[in-house]
Amino acid sequence: MKDKAFETKAIRHQAERTNHREHSVPIFATSSYIFEDAEHARALFAKEVEGNVYSRYSNPNNDEFVQKLCLLEGAETGIATASGMAAMFISIASFVKAGDHVVASRSVFGSTHQILTQLLPRWGIGYTYVDGIDLEQWEQAITPETKLFFLETPSNPGLDILDIKSIAEIAHKHQILVNVDNCFATPYLQNPIQFGADIVTHSATKFIDGQGRTLGGAVLANRELIDEVMFLSRHTGPAMSPFNGWVLSKSLETLAVRMDRHCENATKLAEYFLNHPNIPTVRYPHLENHPGHELAAIQMKKGGGIVTFELEGGLQSGQKFLDHLNMISLSSNLGDSRTIATHPASTTHSKLSEEEREAVGISPGLIRISVGLEHIEDIINDIDQALDQSF
Ligand SMILES: *Cc1c(COP(=O)(O)O)cnc(C)c1O
Repeated sequence: MKDKAFETKAIRHQAERTNHREHSVPIFATSSYIFEDAEHARALFAKEVEGNVYSRYSNPNNDEFVQKLCLLEGAETGIATASGMAAMFISIASFVKAGDHVVASRSVFGSTHQILTQLLPRWGIGYTYVDGIDLEQWEQAITPETKLFFLETPSNPGLDILDIKSIAEIAHKHQILVNVDNCFATPYLQNPIQFGADIVTHSATKFIDGQGRTLGGAVLANRELIDEVMFLSRHTGPAMSPFNGWVLSKSLETLAVRMDRHCENATKLAEYFLNHPNIPTVRYPHLENHPGHELAAIQMKKGGGIVTFELEGGLQSGQKFLDHLNMISLSSNLGDSRTIATHPASTTHSKLSEEEREAVGISPGLIRISVGLEHIEDIINDIDQALDQSF
């Protein structure tokens, strides 16, 4: 399957058929698996043979999902997790112990921020935030205890584009691992391992599911690193439900066509904002006014499904805008077939102080649009009538 195109791999990689000759893979709703005999049980536990033992460790649906994701990312192997945050947590916690240190780009998902700044310090693990765009800051933040770089590109919601290749080069000079949260781009638009990342993490809840139905996540890396993550996962239990593994594997079958349309709609919406007289700031990675657009063109096949903008009149206009939307959903989720508008300062990033928000480019009037798959004219019309009533 390795030599096939992305779309083909996403559709044709399937768990082995059972005796029923099913075309669509069944859901393996089983917590455990039977051993053929006592010797088989012994060999499975001794890891002398491969096979399922217990669904906290592995399950055919979750394996199908994560192995397919590995094919699409160009990763050796991986682990499926119950949520994106479970993936973020185990992919960090597996590689640090008391006394160690993590360097992270300041602009990370709200809960990742809480792990780095609140939870890791409880266990004696330090962190330093850097402006992820500034390569010198990464280099300068390194201490003898630094074990891991963590970054998100494009970042949520600032849409910063970070140079994965250069950051990985700095890390590898110092034997530091690089962990990239690839949630916004998905494997269809960006493959961090190709640029030198050691670990790729996903929230599958977003574009991978694409329809706002399930939570899920994944950690992908080489076998040696995943063995470490598997140890933590196996004994702490952030396992994905087989039902969600089934849903998400099906979701991957349509990821390419969905992402193409998300990107097409997002580009048209960004251009609409660009031409609007009352919108001073528009951000979209593949727009020429984006400071990282050249890098985005190298790292990302297309610009993604998220557009951010700011209205004249800041917070007040922003709230008026949200309250006048008719069709577009107000939600904190993203990557759904439905277009969603979010006000990060009062929701997803409300736990940050005003200075912290400022530092990651979240102004009081910033609105994040997760551009869905409705017809672009209907999306723009709804936004247009809401903007007309916002000033
Ligand atoms: C949503 C999100 C997460 C967390 O994923 P969950 O599935 O909600 O746990 C992590 N990183 C990014 C960039 C996200 O958008």
